[in-house]
Amino acid sequence: MVGVAGFEPATTRTPSVCATRLRHTPTQAATIYLCSWQDHTRVRMTVRMTRTNRIAIVIVAIAAMVTIRAALPHVSAAETAAETAKLEVAGGKIEVVFTPSDYKLSREAILAWIERSADAVSTYYGRFPVHRYRITIFAAPDRHGVMSGTTWGFGGAHSRIILGVDTRQSELDNDWVMTHEMVHLAFPSVTRDHHWIEEGIATYVEPIARAEIGNYPVSQVWQDLVVGLPKGMPTKDDAGLDHTPTWGRTYWGGAMFCLLADVGIRRSTHNRYGLADALRGILAAGEISKLNGRSSARSKLPTRQSECR
Ligand SMILES: [Zn+2]
Repeated sequence: MVGVAGFEPATTRTPSVCATRLRHTPTQAATIYLCSWQDHTRVRMTVRMTRTNRIAIVIVAIAAMVTIRAALPHVSAAETAAETAKLEVAGGKIEVVFTPSDYKLSREAILAWIERSADAVSTYYGRFPVHRYRITIFAAPDRHGVMSGTTWGFGGAHSRIILGVDTRQSELDNDWVMTHEMVHLAFPSVTRDHHWIEEGIATYVEPIARAEIGNYPVSQVWQDLVVGLPKGMPTKDDAGLDHTPTWGRTYWGGAMFCLLADVGIRRSTHNRYGLADALRGILAAGEISKLNGRSSARSKLPTRQSECR
């Protein structure tokens, strides 16, 4: 279902630090935002805004930008020499950006892993969650495996994946991270205290989506739930998922919510519907919201940012 258009030079975007914005507040303070294009490092500073220190504020902003760039020399160099590949998936286009590296695996093997993950998510949701998506693959020298993933909604849906250069094929075959990140694309941003629902959905849906395409044994899905869900149980004096941002409560507590929701929907509809139908409805509602021009509605946006396990 996915076609590879081949590699081509990436469009070089410099400088690495792309945005510096001054935002005035009613309290005569200025908030300065710095954001790196490449790895989305964000710095926010708030200073008092008076006539005499405006120049100083600008100097500080420039100095901070230079400092960030100096701290990320590898990022700028990597960006300059990056290469990209384009994939077409069910209802979406994916741009994959590779920073320079000497992976033991071929680019084709890495792209096949991304395609398979997209296939799993598309199968679960009925289509790929977003029309355009960019993945930047950063190399981790002397490491193997998929080290981490982070997904953003603002500035266009995109993910950063840290991949060990010594990664083996079996590690990609058994990887969950890429599918997990793509699941995040199908759910809107929520406030920080509701972050558990973002990670809970990704934790619960990812193995099911992979099982649906035969990439993960169904028996293993159930076994993972048996082993994992107790990690999401509340401890004494737990204040609820909204107020207990621990790893266990966020990921597995959220997954437990999803399992209960799935079972509840199936019971009440005589197994006609399940959580997947509700999540597809949320995804469709985002599209309807876009068509209606509700540009300020947070609900239409993919997840804000999700730094995953
Ligand atoms: Zn996540």
